[in-house]
Amino acid sequence: MRLSPDTLPSLRHGAQRPGYDRAALTTGIVHLGIGAFHRAHQAVYTDDALARSFGPWGIAGVSLRSPDTRDALEPQGGLYTVAVRDAAGERLRVIGSVTQLLVAPEDPAAVLDLLTRPSVRIVTLTVTEKGYCHDPATGALNEAHPDIVHDLANPESPRSVPGFLVEALIRRRAAGVEPFTVLSCDNLPSNGDTAAGLLRRYAELRDPALGTWFAGNVACPNSMVDRIVPATTDADRDRVSDGLGLRDSWPVVTEPFSQWVIEDRFPTGRPAWELEGAELVPDVHPYETMKLRLLNGSHSTLAYLGYLAGYETVSDTMADPAFARLIRGLMDEEAGPTLHMPPGADLGHYKDALIERFRNPALRHRTWQIAMDGTQKLPQRLLGTIRDRLAAGAPIDRLALGVAAWMRYVSGTDEAGRPIDVRDPMAARLAELAAEAGPDADRLATALFGLTAVFGDDLPRDPRFTAAVTDALRRLYAEGARAVVQSVAPAAG
Ligand code: NAD
Repeated sequence: MRLSPDTLPSLRHGAQRPGYDRAALTTGIVHLGIGAFHRAHQAVYTDDALARSFGPWGIAGVSLRSPDTRDALEPQGGLYTVAVRDAAGERLRVIGSVTQLLVAPEDPAAVLDLLTRPSVRIVTLTVTEKGYCHDPATGALNEAHPDIVHDLANPESPRSVPGFLVEALIRRRAAGVEPFTVLSCDNLPSNGDTAAGLLRRYAELRDPALGTWFAGNVACPNSMVDRIVPATTDADRDRVSDGLGLRDSWPVVTEPFSQWVIEDRFPTGRPAWELEGAELVPDVHPYETMKLRLLNGSHSTLAYLGYLAGYETVSDTMADPAFARLIRGLMDEEAGPTLHMPPGADLGHYKDALIERFRNPALRHRTWQIAMDGTQKLPQRLLGTIRDRLAAGAPIDRLALGVAAWMRYVSGTDEAGRPIDVRDPMAARLAELAAEAGPDADRLATALFGLTAVFGDDLPRDPRFTAAVTDALRRLYAEGARAVVQSVAPAAG
């Protein structure tokens, strides 16, 4: 039997279920990018908030790409399971806050209608870094992006996030409906400010006066999100369905830890997320930089080096003591010293907890998944830290090794000579550069430094940066990832 509102009563004892009347929910939040992360994070906070103090905060989940989530969840009336997993076992919980699912490419007009409804007061986003159609090195809108070009020419049938949101805001304004708040939950630096800048620029391209209106009227709070949510596997589906006693076509699997730090700027209201553990603060930046540099920077470094060393998951990689030492050293010696935390924040505790989270063997987070989209991720995860270290005249050995490992990874061939499936919006360009350079560290590094969308104009001109990365890349080619990690992070004594 399939999980659905009708079969909920036969859920096995022990699995938690929605504690409110879903049929009475109205849609107050539209979420763009209804992937695994939203369902294990924001939708859970909202589910908790609805159970505690019911309000008009049902979520309509929209995919701007594939129909897969809608196809899986529609027959389940939007219900799905969050499986929280650690060494002690697995706890199952059915989430009810997602009540509607749409696929934008099938019917962009329906998505615009939804976004124009007065009941919708918040639009949340997890569309991955590439969904912002921006230049990751500068944060500026990529005005030559095919989706942006398309949407400016066809504003009534958009494809991109800016295209949908700005057209909806124009319609709301014309109808006298207040603008919604735009809440980015992607791993971007200053995600709210970045989204605001991109949307304002896109609005300006539609009509210069609209850009000014946008800047004065649309709130885009920054937020920091943290919970590790690997892609769901077929084995996850089977195990969760066995535990539920009902078939769930697309559960999500996650860890016990969850954090959400949000700037409290919601002119038209929001659910009481703070009662469920979200931290509403005046300034998110210190938390966000901490997370991007310690968690995401370590994650990417582990992903590239771990993949090259033949490890399938982050926890497999962390089980190798040299990799664990490297990551602790990266946090303690290189990334940590660049952070300026508010009084009371306990960095030592945060780093200890991160190491434990990375080690969680119950979460099979694949190195290959984290390795995706490196051109979009590197700037905020490693390169900003490197800029700060260079400005302070401080060493960057471990950070440079992370960047070199990305280069070795995007060369497209692993240490055993097998092809690597490199997923990245710039994959074609990366493959071209790698083919021209061949297996030559100096040529490959020089070619990749030329990607200004990734490295900017400054880093490729700084010999401390180029020498450290090129040297690490030479060593990765000559010795292999595992040997290099062992020599950069030797055992004490
Ligand atoms: P996912 O693959 O399950 O879902 C990604 C979603 O983004 C899908 O709905 C997809 O259609 C959409 N998308 C992909 N490319 C797009 C594009 N070019 N334009 C518009 N939409 C696009 O991934 P996920 O685990 O849900 O992660 C999504 C994002 O959430 C991450 O990129 C990150 O910014 C943030 N996040 C994830 C985690 C995690 O552990 N998974 C943790 C913190 C933050």
